[in-house]
Amino acid sequence: MASAADDVLKPDFGAQRKHFIFEEEHDRLRESIRRFVETELTPHAEEWEETTFPDSVFHRMGELGFLGLSVPEQYGGQGGDYYANLVLAEELTRANSGGLAMGVAVHTDMATPPILAFGTEEQRQRYVTPSMRGQKIACLGITEPDAGSDVAGIKTRAVRDGDEYVINGSKTYITNGHRADYIVLLTKTDPDAGRAHEGEARGSGFTLFIVDMDLPGVIRERKLVKLGMHSSDTALLAFQDVRVPADAVLGEAGKGFYHIMWELQGERLIGAAGCVAGAQLCFEKTLQYAKERTAFGRQIGKFQVTRHKFAEMATKIESARQMVYVTAWRFSNGEYPVREISMAKLHAARVAVEVADECIQIHGGAGYMKEYGVERVWRDMRLNRIGAGTDEVMLDVIGRSYGL
Ligand SMILES: Cc1cc2nc3c(=O)[nH]c(=O)nc-3n(C[C@H](O)[C@H](O)[C@H](O)COP(=O)(O)OP(=O)(O)OC[C@H]3O[C@@H](n4cnc5c(N)ncnc54)[C@H](O)[C@@H]3O)c2cc1C
Repeated sequence: MASAADDVLKPDFGAQRKHFIFEEEHDRLRESIRRFVETELTPHAEEWEETTFPDSVFHRMGELGFLGLSVPEQYGGQGGDYYANLVLAEELTRANSGGLAMGVAVHTDMATPPILAFGTEEQRQRYVTPSMRGQKIACLGITEPDAGSDVAGIKTRAVRDGDEYVINGSKTYITNGHRADYIVLLTKTDPDAGRAHEGEARGSGFTLFIVDMDLPGVIRERKLVKLGMHSSDTALLAFQDVRVPADAVLGEAGKGFYHIMWELQGERLIGAAGCVAGAQLCFEKTLQYAKERTAFGRQIGKFQVTRHKFAEMATKIESARQMVYVTAWRFSNGEYPVREISMAKLHAARVAVEVADECIQIHGGAGYMKEYGVERVWRDMRLNRIGAGTDEVMLDVIGRSYGL
C-alpha cells in the first residue's frame, strides 16, 4: 500500500476538478448543452460557414431553455445564475463555428440584458420573453461607419416630434442585423452631446431605443463579407426617417452612453470566456495531432521545442481562465469590476489568437488546410482583439483607471 505521503506528492495531472464558481447544477447544464451542441450544431458547421447558421438555431435553443439561462422565469428564462451564461459560452465553442457562438451571444448577453436591466415591464414582456423562447431575434447597434471605438462620436440622431422620435443614421458591422426582429440602438438625442471616453462622466445626450426592424425606413443594406466568423450575418444598416413612439426609449433618455457602457462589460466578459474555451479546444485538438504525427521517427510532440510550445499555451490559457472566472465571480456578486473585465477581455483575446496561431504552426501544412479546422479558429478568434472594444481601447480603459 502506498504511503499517505506518496499520495500527496503524486501530481494529479488528470484530475477533473471544477473551479470553485461552479456547482453540480452547472455540470449537469454543461452536459446537456454539450449533447445538444455535438448532435445538433457541430455536424452542420461546414455547411453554415457557407450559408450562415439558420434562425432555427434560435428557435431550438429557445425551446430547450438555453437562451435565458440567467433570466428570471417571469420573462421566459430559467432563473439561473451568471455562471450558467459562462457555461453556455464555453460549450458553444464546440460547435466549431465562432460565428454561431457570436450570433447567439449577441442575443443572450449583449442585446437583451440592457432591456432586462433598464427596460419597462412592458418592454421586458414584449421583447425579452419572446427572445428567451427563440421567437424574436435581437441585435445591438452601436458602431457606425464613422465611429467605432469612439462611441461618443456616433452621428445617428433621434429627434423628438410630439409623441414620437424620428431616427436617421447608419450602423455597421451589426451581428444578426439581417435576421433580427429588433435592434437595441444607440442614438444621439442632444446634437451638442460632448466627447467622452469610456468610463467618463461626459456621456450625456445619448439615448437607447428598441426599434422593430420591420418599421418603414429601416433598411438592411448589405451583408458584409468577413475574414472569419463566416456563419454569422453582419449587416450595414440605414435608418431613414424611422418613426418610433416615445415609449421605444430604453432606460433613461439622455443616459444611453452610460447604459451602453454597462452593457459592454457583460459583452466583454462573455467574449473573454468564449476566447478561453476556444483556445482550450484548439489546444486539445492540436495535442492529439502532436501525439499522432511523426517526423524524423518521433512524435512531433516529443521534440522539446514542441513540448515547450504546449507548456506556454497551457500556461497562458490557464492564466486567462482564472482571470475570467474570478472576474465573473466579482461581477456575479454585484461588483462592477470594469478594470478587471477590461484586463480579462484584453488578455483572453490575445491568448486565443496566440494559441490558435501556434496550433497552426504545430500542425505544419495541415494547419493551413481548411479540413483540420485550426485555421478557422485563428480567423474567428482574431475578431476578439477588435470587437467589443479593441485591445487599444482596453489598454486605455485600464490605464485611465489609474488616473492617467
Ligand atoms: C465581425 C464583427 C462583428 C461586430 N458586431 C458588432 C455588433 O453587433 N454591434 C456593434 O455595434 N458593433 C459590432 N462590431 C463593431 C466593433 O465593435 C468595432 O469594429 C470595434 O469597436 C472597433 O471600432 P472600429 O471598427 O470603428 O475601429 P476604429 O475605432 O476606427 O479603430 C481603428 C484603430 O484605431 C485604434 N484606436 C481608436 N481609438 C484609439 C485610441 N483612443 N487610442 C488608441 N488607439 C485607438 C483602434 O484600436 C484600432 O486599432 C463588430 C465588428 C466586427 C468586425
